Amino acid sequence: MKVQKIGVRPVFDSRGKETIEVVFRAKRIFSAKIPSGASRGTGEASVFTPAAAKKSAEKVQEKLRGKEFCSLREFDLALLALDSSSRKEKIGGNVALGLSIAAARALAFEKNQEPWELLSEEFFPKVKAPLPLLFSNVINGGAHARSNLDLQEYMFVADPSGDLLGAVRQLISLYRELGALLKKERRVTLLPRGDEGGYALDFSNNLEPLELLQRIVEEKGLGRTFSLALDAAASQFFRKGRYSFDGALRTSQELHEFYLHAAENVPLLFSVEDPFAEQDREAFRAFLKKAGKSMWVVGDDLTATHAEEIRNARGLVNGVIIKPNQVGTVTETCEALEEARKQGMKVIVSHRSGETSDQFIVHLARACGADGVKLGAPAGERMGKYNELLRVYTV
Ligand code: PEP
Ligand code: MG
Repeated sequence: MKVQKIGVRPVFDSRGKETIEVVFRAKRIFSAKIPSGASRGTGEASVFTPAAAKKSAEKVQEKLRGKEFCSLREFDLALLALDSSSRKEKIGGNVALGLSIAAARALAFEKNQEPWELLSEEFFPKVKAPLPLLFSNVINGGAHARSNLDLQEYMFVADPSGDLLGAVRQLISLYRELGALLKKERRVTLLPRGDEGGYALDFSNNLEPLELLQRIVEEKGLGRTFSLALDAAASQFFRKGRYSFDGALRTSQELHEFYLHAAENVPLLFSVEDPFAEQDREAFRAFLKKAGKSMWVVGDDLTATHAEEIRNARGLVNGVIIKPNQVGTVTETCEALEEARKQGMKVIVSHRSGETSDQFIVHLARACGADGVKLGAPAGERMGKYNELLRVYTV
């Protein structure tokens, strides 16, 4: 693959905020749109504004124009040679990722492959891809909604067990069921929604939505194929060593007890992401020790898709979220995945709260054999990723 031209144009994400599309000419034009997060870990790759990204792309073009690359790793190493900082402050994490994904598409095209096939061959040759669990955020709180919920995401988790289409159908029907029930209970005809398409309402406390989700799953008799998960995104409500939670300042121990109480009262709850703030490492350690046998304790802000942070999170989590724009190249994302596997951790490939129509993460999930994918509520702009999932897992 020979690099001919590189450019950047501004596009809008699902929140209507400006992000970038990287345009890359090799044999033909390829591009990649980059999503953006609202609850970001401190270790995440930098995000350049469209104007700064445009300038950065011009500089990268000066260095790479006319160069030939035979593999994605080789291309990404050339990017890393231009910027070896951990947060990609020189060329911009979003610029680097756009280039890396567009290059993956260009290389796949030249080999007459789907992007997931290229990733599979280059990074995960031995991986068989089982159908992933579908983590679907149906009640939004925290930084993704204007409700009183401190916890950011309440998720239905569908186990496709051989029938992905059926699982997506059931997910859509449960999500609608939840909407109908909330409308009836609140005596309203419309429901506000958060950034990821989940319902965004006030509740009497942070446990109530979980109890409601469990009730719906049980009433529908779906307790065998559906379970529940949380993303607390606890860094967002951590203030000076305490958690501002359910109307009071709580200690790590109190929050730890809340999760145990939640798991006891809501047996369908099996996974909690970022239960504590990223700097509250001892709280992660104590919680994993207590709950790690029966639950997934998942790092997101804590690990930020960096292989080294994942290695350092041994003993703190037994699962990680993988978001390519937290690190900035596809190769480093694959290294993070490899490290997670080495540590025996579950991997969940995830969207961001500010999304675009770019479907690359679905290809990544397929190639790496992700245990789960986190794609938001089955509605609106998020539906594109469910449809791509159906396509790449059934070819
Ligand atoms: C998350 O925290 O897992 C998430 C998807 O939200 P954001 O993109 O805002 O980080
Ligand atoms: Mg998260």
